[in-house]
Amino acid sequence: MSEPLLRVEGLTKHFSTKKGLLHAVDNVSFTIDKGRTLGMVGEPGCGKSTTGRAILRLLEPTAGNVLFDNIDVRSLDAAKLRRMRTRMQIVFQDPFSSLNPRMTVSQAIEEPIKLHGIITDPQEREERVLELMETVGLAPRLFNTYPHELDGGRRQRIGIARALAIEPEFIVCDEPISALDVSIQAQVVNLLIKLQKELGLTYLFIAHDLSMVKHISDRVGVMYLGSMAEFADSDELYSKPLHPYTKALMSAIPIPDPKAEKEKKRIPIEGEIPSPINPKPGCRFAARCKYATEACKQTTPELTEVLPGHFVACHRVKEVNA
Ligand code: SF4
Repeated sequence: MSEPLLRVEGLTKHFSTKKGLLHAVDNVSFTIDKGRTLGMVGEPGCGKSTTGRAILRLLEPTAGNVLFDNIDVRSLDAAKLRRMRTRMQIVFQDPFSSLNPRMTVSQAIEEPIKLHGIITDPQEREERVLELMETVGLAPRLFNTYPHELDGGRRQRIGIARALAIEPEFIVCDEPISALDVSIQAQVVNLLIKLQKELGLTYLFIAHDLSMVKHISDRVGVMYLGSMAEFADSDELYSKPLHPYTKALMSAIPIPDPKAEKEKKRIPIEGEIPSPINPKPGCRFAARCKYATEACKQTTPELTEVLPGHFVACHRVKEVNA
């Protein structure tokens, strides 16, 4: 039986702004088993990327615990955190802006190996760069090319090779396909799946494309306005969504069969996402939820296990699914 490599408990990240306290992430908890993928979905601004960055302490969490391999990541000093970062890496959304335009492909991949002092011999480093290029499907002829000479898919492969260069166990894939053409998205996701099988990697895969998240994830968490609304095994969540927000999200996934797509009932979500600055008490989804009662606006629903391994934050989950 696999065991959690990552435990996130009550993770919270607030930002002070001129208008008040921005609740980017509030009390989010989950685990990811070794060699597995947790998909995290939700609309832009729901806190999923902030969660990924707070886990790696690229943003300092406001509260909560992050345990990686039973090590309390929040208690690490700068030197220990630096060492920990060789085990936990990130692949960014926009491969172009995350790469230095003045570095060639080989220099970009070599950089983290040099920075962390993993291989000191230049000849050995070059061999390792070529090996990494092969691993991520970059032809050796691209060794001395620059990022602007490549398409988005190849640039993202450089980003993945950089993350792999220091042999991490865990990678936060922060919207790694959102900036790519649809035709290339599946290639990158399939590459991540292949690497996971070969190297035993563990992923937090953040995206808003629900079909891609289903394809890669073992479990999925649905975020709404900084909180986790629902969390379950991928197949279960997609076949039996229980939270009103998840139900609406799932109903919007296009079905390849035109007849079924025409007959499908789409659940609209009325209204705008409320501001995350000084949010009102109660359920974050209340302003847009057709099942909301006065009680929903007073008390914040806890994420509760309503079926084995299936967690929902909704006071009225029974009525919603009656
Ligand atoms: Fe809707 Fe209330 Fe459930 Fe929130 S707690 S999702 S407002 S029914």
